[in-house]
Amino acid sequence: MSTTFAQLGVPQPIGHALSRRGITKPFDIQAATLADALKGRDVCGRAPTGSGKTLAFGIPLVARVGRAQPRRPEGLVLAPTRELADQIASDLRTFSGKVRVAVVYGGVGYGPQIRALRGGVDILVACPGRLEDLIHQGVADLSAVEIVVIDEADRMADMGFIPAVRRLLDQTANERQTMLFSATLDSEVASLTRDYQHRPVRHEVGQGTPDVVDADHVFWHVDRTKRIEVSARTIDAAGPTIVFCRTRRGSDRVARQLSRAGVLTAAIHGGRNQNQRTRALKEFASGRVQALVATDVVARGIHVEDVSAIIHYDLPADHKAYLHRSGRTARAGKEGIVVSLVPPDQIKELRHMKRRLGLRQPVTDVDLTDIQPLDRKARRPKPRRAPANPGRQPTTRRRQNGRPGRPTNKNRSRHPRSNRRRSASKSRNKRAPAGARN
Ligand code: ADP
Ligand code: MG
Repeated sequence: MSTTFAQLGVPQPIGHALSRRGITKPFDIQAATLADALKGRDVCGRAPTGSGKTLAFGIPLVARVGRAQPRRPEGLVLAPTRELADQIASDLRTFSGKVRVAVVYGGVGYGPQIRALRGGVDILVACPGRLEDLIHQGVADLSAVEIVVIDEADRMADMGFIPAVRRLLDQTANERQTMLFSATLDSEVASLTRDYQHRPVRHEVGQGTPDVVDADHVFWHVDRTKRIEVSARTIDAAGPTIVFCRTRRGSDRVARQLSRAGVLTAAIHGGRNQNQRTRALKEFASGRVQALVATDVVARGIHVEDVSAIIHYDLPADHKAYLHRSGRTARAGKEGIVVSLVPPDQIKELRHMKRRLGLRQPVTDVDLTDIQPLDRKARRPKPRRAPANPGRQPTTRRRQNGRPGRPTNKNRSRHPRSNRRRSASKSRNKRAPAGARN
């Protein structure tokens, strides 16, 4: 029999709150680290996206944190992006009980964040920049912080946040528990572990980059001019899809063009303000829009339930970006498909990336049967749109990517408002609204 949360030492009220969300059995990383983390040991976790890192640090944090004085949080979670910070705070609040959780990040007003801190915050979830700002203003003080979590440390490194993270860690209590989670543990992240962790319990899985073995990967020859048409049909067939573009302007343009092609779309990237980004995510998570067009800013960390497909509209810059983007689907053991649109002039570049990824699937002509789960194919109505002529030659090929075919899954629906999505958005609505509060 596998271990239960209770056997790992998770306090009953937390266990109950989690089971109300249908979380009853610990994932691997949780089983491996919870017992030690609940005793106060440092943890260094490297695991792919979707493996359950948030609870691995969130449970010990909520269980161990003390009651804070005004302005002096006792628990601190550092996260690279606003979206991730919001996500972590909402996750924690589903089981935090009387423990007060607040979140601070830039791009929004100071007022609510300052008020929350003055009222007393037990666990502060923060992006480094805004937190340093609030400290300079004298409304936050980290000297009482005895538990620190650094989430998505690799992303912090990519975004140049490590010096700020170090400055913040230097202000926390000397006697402290430090938990660090990352998809990779290379140079800068390794140095954080070396300098700020004390004999951490290590849990490392995968190759050092997140893997996406659970998703199907297909690579299609597509002329640049046909990409909108192919994307629209893919989204139509697959259901909730994230479309990744290289630039902000490109994402806006693709979002507009997809809308014109009849796909309900929202865009999210660093050029949009916080309200626009939050709204776009909400619309996508609730099923009001079918596709989210994004730059790499949301490629990590943010968890949207039940993303059926990823489209690399512009090919990612490198294999790491491919993995992080693709990790948005097939999370927590669910299915997903990852589609790369490959223009003729990028075939060589792609070959190099595929080699690094260890993906052997050939680049083929567009074949939407790749997308449709088998059980749906028979009852699928005629596409509303005029059929595209995107590929070179029609093909009768089925799967060539080494997997025998996608397992059928009756729960998968092409309609954004399927049962699963409804329940996902319902549980989402139960969560506290984003933003600082206590
Ligand atoms: P990571 O941070 O490793 O990318 P998350 O912590 O965001 O992954 O978890 C991914 C998803 O899995 C979330 O929807 C989370 O609620 C769910 N999850 C985490 N742990 C469990 C568990 N033990 N049982 C079921 N679902 C879980
Ligand atoms: Mg995470």
